[in-house]
Amino acid sequence: MSEPETEILPQQNSLLNLVEQVLTENQRLKRELQEITEREERFRQIAENVREVFFVISAKTDEILYISPTYETVWGRSCQSLYENPQSWLSAIHPEDSSKAIATIETQFRTGDDFEEEYRIIRPDESICLVRVRAFPVCDVMGKVNRFVGIAEDITKRKEAEEALKKSEEQFRLTFEMAPIGMAISTLKGKFTRVNQALCDALGYSPAELLELSFAEISHPDDWETHHYLEQKLINGAESNFQFEKRFIAKNGHVVDTLLKVLLVCDADAKPLHFNNQIIDITERKQMEQQLRHDALHDALTGLPNRALFMDRLQQQLKRSQRQDKYLFAVLFLDLDRFKVVNDSVGHLIGDKLLIEIARRLEKSIAPTDTVARLGGDEFTILLENLASRSEAILVAESIYQTLTFPFNIEGYELFTTASIGIALSSQGYDKPEDILRDADLTMYSAKEQGKARYEIFDCSLRDRALQRLELETDLRRALERGEFEVYYQPITSLALGILSGFEALARWNHPTKGSIGPADFIPVCEETGLIVPLGNWLLKEACQTARNWQLKYPEHPAIKMSVNLSAQQFREPQLIQEVENVLAETGLNGNFLKLEITESILIDNLETVTEIILNLRKQNIQFSIDDFGTGYSSLSYLHRFPVDTIKIDRSFVSQMQANGENSAIVKAIVTLAHMLNMDVIAEGIETTAQLAQLKLLQCEYGQGFFFSKPLNQQDAELFVANSPRWK
Ligand code: C2E
Ligand code: MG
Ligand code: MG
Repeated sequence: MSEPETEILPQQNSLLNLVEQVLTENQRLKRELQEITEREERFRQIAENVREVFFVISAKTDEILYISPTYETVWGRSCQSLYENPQSWLSAIHPEDSSKAIATIETQFRTGDDFEEEYRIIRPDESICLVRVRAFPVCDVMGKVNRFVGIAEDITKRKEAEEALKKSEEQFRLTFEMAPIGMAISTLKGKFTRVNQALCDALGYSPAELLELSFAEISHPDDWETHHYLEQKLINGAESNFQFEKRFIAKNGHVVDTLLKVLLVCDADAKPLHFNNQIIDITERKQMEQQLRHDALHDALTGLPNRALFMDRLQQQLKRSQRQDKYLFAVLFLDLDRFKVVNDSVGHLIGDKLLIEIARRLEKSIAPTDTVARLGGDEFTILLENLASRSEAILVAESIYQTLTFPFNIEGYELFTTASIGIALSSQGYDKPEDILRDADLTMYSAKEQGKARYEIFDCSLRDRALQRLELETDLRRALERGEFEVYYQPITSLALGILSGFEALARWNHPTKGSIGPADFIPVCEETGLIVPLGNWLLKEACQTARNWQLKYPEHPAIKMSVNLSAQQFREPQLIQEVENVLAETGLNGNFLKLEITESILIDNLETVTEIILNLRKQNIQFSIDDFGTGYSSLSYLHRFPVDTIKIDRSFVSQMQANGENSAIVKAIVTLAHMLNMDVIAEGIETTAQLAQLKLLQCEYGQGFFFSKPLNQQDAELFVANSPRWK
């Protein structure tokens, strides 16, 4: 170290040091001041450029040391007014919030703690603003709190937004939880992250269980692929949502039909986040649809396929037979014999049960691939597919016949039934299902005509017959209007006296092209079509009129009785009594001279009603004969209960009688019975003197037959009356 040029005294030295120190301290203070000023400037700049209100408050005097200009916007008051009156800060606080806010402020001033409080302030224009005020203590060099620095921000909007958000979140939560349809949020990989109660209920899982699962695990295996594919489409941005009918497997293994609606939720950058799923349980609707579909195609009573379904299957078979050479199928048309009798005697309820039982037996008689349908009433159809030969169809018909021979036990009744079956084979070559069904139907009718309880196979002659029959029906409908009917009269003779006692009126049809047609060929058709009623009425009037005319014209002639046939159908007509009364009144014929011929079948039909009608008509002195006696369901035990006057022995018994008296036992029995019941007898179909002699011997009162005369037209019959021959 070099020697100093001038020697400095120690006192001088310490003074120098002091000066130096003061200078340095001065500079430091200056720098610090400078820094503080700069910091304050920076603070001011920041404070004046932000939305928040900055403030500095003296901890000693409560004086506002600084308030940033935003105060004016938030508080709606000038900064100057606050500087002048710091209390105006507190007096602006909403009365409901002020006590709490002031208490916090006081505590803070006392303790020097951080401060945070939210309160409302009322602006001079009375608008309300929510502020959040935070303040922090600042200490002096001695570590004593000398001021508070704080920020106040207007959080009205944010609070409102927060409230709104909270509300909408709550609403969403409620909507989600309480929704009557299943709702779920699932990840892009199909895992459930949120599920609602309705979904859990539909699938039988608890929320916790379901949250452990994924869509793939509870989907119906046949539907998952589609679901996954559609989800991928959403993720790839092709669409934003989809919906489809999808099946789930519930916890108990049942299939749950649903309508699934899926929405992809993305973030602000369109990045897929998750799926919102709505799952609507449509199991009931599906079941109903299925039920409706089933009902539309099935018979409600028996549950068998109905006509629509049968025709559809028939159509398919027809197509197959058209494609496939030698393909054979058959249609069996089955109609129960006398089902009406069952219904009428034991009631419809038992009748219905019988139909159900029959349906079950029919089902058992066919192969599972074949179809048995109920067309309605007591009509069933059977479709036999893929037959090796026609004999297979016959075998089925026979087995049906067999199965129906066993009695049906229904509610204590032992019921027997038979059926008539018509078989039509596809080998006849058909274009339309209706045609093959029609032919099977026709064949069934033929089987019925042939005596019921049998089957028949269709052949073309049947169709011709049916066509003829249809033609007949059409012609018949017009015949009455065109006056093509005529009444023929066949004399009835008193055998004891050998004189004319009356006539039987018999219908004839003078067909414009086919000539005269006998009643056997058209009466049954008239009965089926209901034409018998107008025809019968016309004929009754015509016959009564003729009888009356003859009475007037030949007064010297003994009273002639007119016999008119009444069909069962006419008997069922409620207006019958009135109709007969009208005819008698209009023609002037006394009821004494009218005899109505009824058959035994009418008597069997409905005992009480028939008796009542007969008794009613008898009030007009009209008499009754039982026609064709012995050919119907003769019930001798019933005979005495019917108020009839005459029995007409059927021609078939009379024709068998031999000259030597053989084969006359039945006739004898009938005559004896009739006499015991106080009835007289007319023998029909007398053709020979021998028959006449026999009948006279048996004391049969009256006779009718070709021996005396064939039925005559009105003119000839009148001549017959005029000549009034006496037979010995
Ligand atoms: P029915 O009432 O038993 O009439 C008698 C039938 O026997 C008549 O046939 C008659 O021509 C026939 N006949 C009479 N004597 C002889 C005979 O000696 N030998 C033969 N072989 N036959 C004889 P028709 O006129 O053909 O009538 C047949 C059936 O048609 C009648 O049988 C009757 O049941 C029904 N019928 C006829 N006209 C009417 C009618 O106006 N209304 C109703 N409901 N049925 C009628
Ligand atoms: Mg008759
Ligand atoms: Mg007869």
